Amino acid sequence: MSTRDTYLVQGIDITTVPKVSLHDHLDGGLRPQTIIELADDIGYALPAQDATSLARWFEESSTSGELEDYLEAFVHTTAVMQTTAGLTRVAREFVSDLAADGVLYAEVRWAPEQHLERGLTLQEAVDAVRSGFAIGRAEVRARGGEIDVRQVLCAMRQNDHSYEIAQLAVANRYDGVVGFDLAGPEVGFPPSLHAEALDYLASKFFPTTIHAGEEGDLESIQDAIVAGRALRIGHGVRLIEDISITPAGEIVLGETASWVRDRGITLECCPSSNLATAGMRDLGDTVEDHPFDIFYEAGISVTVNPDNRLMSSTSITRELGLLVDAFGYDLGDLEVFALNAADGSFLRADEREDLADRITEGFDALGL
Ligand SMILES: [Zn+2]
Repeated sequence: MSTRDTYLVQGIDITTVPKVSLHDHLDGGLRPQTIIELADDIGYALPAQDATSLARWFEESSTSGELEDYLEAFVHTTAVMQTTAGLTRVAREFVSDLAADGVLYAEVRWAPEQHLERGLTLQEAVDAVRSGFAIGRAEVRARGGEIDVRQVLCAMRQNDHSYEIAQLAVANRYDGVVGFDLAGPEVGFPPSLHAEALDYLASKFFPTTIHAGEEGDLESIQDAIVAGRALRIGHGVRLIEDISITPAGEIVLGETASWVRDRGITLECCPSSNLATAGMRDLGDTVEDHPFDIFYEAGISVTVNPDNRLMSSTSITRELGLLVDAFGYDLGDLEVFALNAADGSFLRADEREDLADRITEGFDALGL
């Protein structure tokens, strides 16, 4: 893991360049000190007692290669997000941390069904996050910044609440919820298991993104697109199974990869997270081995995301920096990734255009 804080591209510290975050889990991006304080408030026991060792514990658990360790990490973060106060604080700080990372717009995902242990209803949980985002946004504005953050509601694919969560998302569509996602263990829990929810969302013209091809194979991506009508794919690493490169270096796309490229389905790429999970199994163990650059070269709409900032000890700035180190991208490439994300966002068309304009203005202002 790189420990660099600053990444310079063409002499510019890329912390400041405009970014859009499309794949960022609320329960994967808490501040360690906040976890300690919230745990203290509710008498919850954590595996470490100070912020530095807790941060290290999360990173080690999440990179051990053991799925059990990885899932335990989320048990501890969701444990302190079971009350209005806990959810609101985490959401508020999340906005502030994204703004500090240069993010102009974010769609932050989380699974309301995992936040009901202390009596909240699903709607109260959504309201708590909405309120945290609003306070965070106001705080960023008070410091002279500007950020907009919306919610994507996840249903856990191993559970059977997806229809209820789909209804919850649609019920809040004019109040900050812009999308629906299926998260949790991919293998053995295909999107088509949740056909009732996905058909309902389609009937309501409500956007979906689905975790697919993160650990599961190409079929999982196909199922997300067909059964889920997914407009975006979370991760999509295994789309590489449908892409070949000729001896002359020509990139050849199969039918699924062609559909993804030609229909503008956005890939939410999360390089560091992918290196810690099974999706990279036969591809290698460094960022250079990630298929991101092949997807980009092939003309697929790639975006750069952190997935879980706490667990991977990362940020979009760091993910971009790692890709720059691996593939030699310049600021023009970084602008394309941000514009892809604006275009793939679940905002209205006019809002997407405004966001794209702000990104272009931000890059133009760098004067290069
Ligand atoms: Zn994810």
